[in-house]
Amino acid sequence: MALTEFVFKVHSRCDLACDHCYVYEHADQSWRRRPVRMTPEVLRAAAGRVAEHAGAHNLPAVSVILHGGEPLLLGPSRMRELLTELRRVVSPVTRLHVGMQTNGVLLSERFADLLAEFDVRVGVSLDGDRTANDLHRRFRNGASSHDRVLTGLALLRRPRYRGLYSGLLCTVDVRADPVRVYEALLDQEPPRIDFLLPHATWEHPPWRPEGDGTPYAGWLSAVHDRWVADGRPVPIRLFDSLLSTARSGPSGTEWLGLDPVDLVVVETDGEWEQADSLKVAYDGAPATGMTVFTHSADEVAATPELARRRSGLAGLGVTCRACPVVAQCGGGLFAHRYGDGHFANPSVYCADLKELIVHVNETEKAPPATSAGPDVTLPASDREPSASDLFGAAVAPAGDPDVVRRLVETQTAIVRGLLRGVADSLPRGGPEADAWDLLAELDHAVPEAVNRVVTHPYVRSWAVECLAGTGTGAWHGPGYLGAVAVAAAVASGTPARLTVPVRAGRAHLPTLGTVLLPGAGDGTAEVRVTPDSLLVTAADTTVVVRPGTVGSAPGWQPTRVMAVDDRTVLLEDGDPHRACHRLPASERLGDADAARWTAAFDAAWRVAADEVPGYAGELRVGLRAVVPLRLTGAGVSEASTARQAFGGVAATETDPSSLAVLLVHEFQHNKMNAFLDIYDLVDAANPVKIVVGWRPDPRPAEAVLHGIYAHAAVAAVWRVRADRGVEGAYPVHRRYHDWTADAVVALEKADVLTPNGARLLRQVADSLVGGPS
Ligand code: SF4
Repeated sequence: MALTEFVFKVHSRCDLACDHCYVYEHADQSWRRRPVRMTPEVLRAAAGRVAEHAGAHNLPAVSVILHGGEPLLLGPSRMRELLTELRRVVSPVTRLHVGMQTNGVLLSERFADLLAEFDVRVGVSLDGDRTANDLHRRFRNGASSHDRVLTGLALLRRPRYRGLYSGLLCTVDVRADPVRVYEALLDQEPPRIDFLLPHATWEHPPWRPEGDGTPYAGWLSAVHDRWVADGRPVPIRLFDSLLSTARSGPSGTEWLGLDPVDLVVVETDGEWEQADSLKVAYDGAPATGMTVFTHSADEVAATPELARRRSGLAGLGVTCRACPVVAQCGGGLFAHRYGDGHFANPSVYCADLKELIVHVNETEKAPPATSAGPDVTLPASDREPSASDLFGAAVAPAGDPDVVRRLVETQTAIVRGLLRGVADSLPRGGPEADAWDLLAELDHAVPEAVNRVVTHPYVRSWAVECLAGTGTGAWHGPGYLGAVAVAAAVASGTPARLTVPVRAGRAHLPTLGTVLLPGAGDGTAEVRVTPDSLLVTAADTTVVVRPGTVGSAPGWQPTRVMAVDDRTVLLEDGDPHRACHRLPASERLGDADAARWTAAFDAAWRVAADEVPGYAGELRVGLRAVVPLRLTGAGVSEASTARQAFGGVAATETDPSSLAVLLVHEFQHNKMNAFLDIYDLVDAANPVKIVVGWRPDPRPAEAVLHGIYAHAAVAAVWRVRADRGVEGAYPVHRRYHDWTADAVVALEKADVLTPNGARLLRQVADSLVGGPS
């Protein structure tokens, strides 16, 4: 996924004290610990990342927006240094558009000359006439900023500087007169006007006059009607966006529509962050835990948080997905959906947005958009899960398959977003683009077939590596999209012709198996999918495969399938992306080894179903693949869960009773990873390390939370065994129980959890009440 818009926070303080400002006045207070201004080192590294990203994706242009705080507080000399360096690093690689968002108070001829010299386009924040502007945009001492801003705007209107002027940004206050605000903005002859709704969430809803449920719709409709009556004298992005999306065009703004968001922020200290507006949700909400010194823009783009924001319809909650105006609204601004610990709600402005869209469509006679974008819908749930619902049901000793069902839905949306990110980076017309087109078609016709492949744990791990550019070799690049599409075509019985990557004479097809093409080396193979076979051709060799056949055949190593109840779990010893587990995976098992594994798994499944039916039910819903690990020299049983492979568990071969515990234990880690994709549970910026009973080395807070969650479940399994009189079970239960209880206390004391993290921890702790008998 290519990012094209980079917001650089060049100065983190402001000379105004607007009480609606999301930087200082809302939940996120990270500005307090950041440097006041971006240092030359941070700027150089950030510009380098932009250039690196533009070069890697062959981008024809990128935008860098200078933002704050107030960017002009940098002063002309530092601003010159910054712009010189930025252009020096980025301009040789791609066309660089530089913009700035300012309050306009410090605009002077000296600044204007400088900005003209470096071709910087300037947007100014103004909330309308003096009365409206004075409602919020004041100096710290309460004085009005209106005159100073108008002086700055007069400068920008001079013919010499007119080319710098990019528009006005107005935050709506429904107490102000809408038409007077509109007229006052028009007086400043802006090239464009942006109206923003004041930042708010379900936890901090916007102010509304008593008895008026949709004042923002009424206010904006009044502006819209006057604008139409005036003959649309200036572009107003909000209305233009609604008209465009009504005709299935792009929205042009992250506030509306289903377009993928491709914007990231660099803070003054070099941290990569998500869009600024998230600051309204909770402290630390925009954080990624990455910096320009340590991570590339590709790595930021590959994070699940950004992926979900590119997943279009699939990334929205149930209510929005079913909404008749979703193609125009898109659930509103992401930050405005926050409530009860997640972003799967409709916008807190939902009623206003719906009413406004209907009004604009009727007035403009625009047909309501019916296209929901290229992504397919996900299976609908009755309602969105709240954090307390999920956590409460998902702690020991019970387990809850419904929780996992919801997590699978979220994970599916994330993987779809990642795949779309891969597709966005493809050149037009190549074999990878053909694969994407086929996937999109199948998604429309037989979504369950696509879901079968998308929910394979190692499709996600490939997509993350592909987007981050961290893997090497053909299997790690976008060409593997062809292999994903072949698997979906086979799952749906759809004839197709595609190209797949070959590495060292092997072509892997996720969920299906590996085709051996000796002599093909590294390159590609042509695959023809027919209703009952696959013909894979490379280097004059054609292998004919009948998917679904169990045993190996010449040139074909099918992925083995372990049947449990009415479900199947893959014995995954071929997928190259299983290496994400970081422990040495077994090579392809011989038939006897595979049979032994299958028998052990089958027996372990029965043990889990008997001892902890709730957890077994969760495994039944969410476990997709088991990766056999090699026994290392120490001969100790090991198991692993990978952050980017929901539904996969890796383990060494062991007896059924131990394997049952390993599966429950590791699947808890799977669930925790899925929670972490939805909720921030730990303050990522706090480097505290905590001593725990189960490891010799102090652990980061997130790892401790993981350990607590997993060990609580293990303690529950051993408690059942102890209660049944299994010899030696009680001390094991006691050990896990005490480790967990002690770690809960240590983690609470460290005070590093978000409110949701604290809630989850408390629920786990409560589930331990009673402890050892
Ligand atoms: S109008 Fe409401 S329900 Fe419909 S898409 Fe927008 S926020 Fe979602």
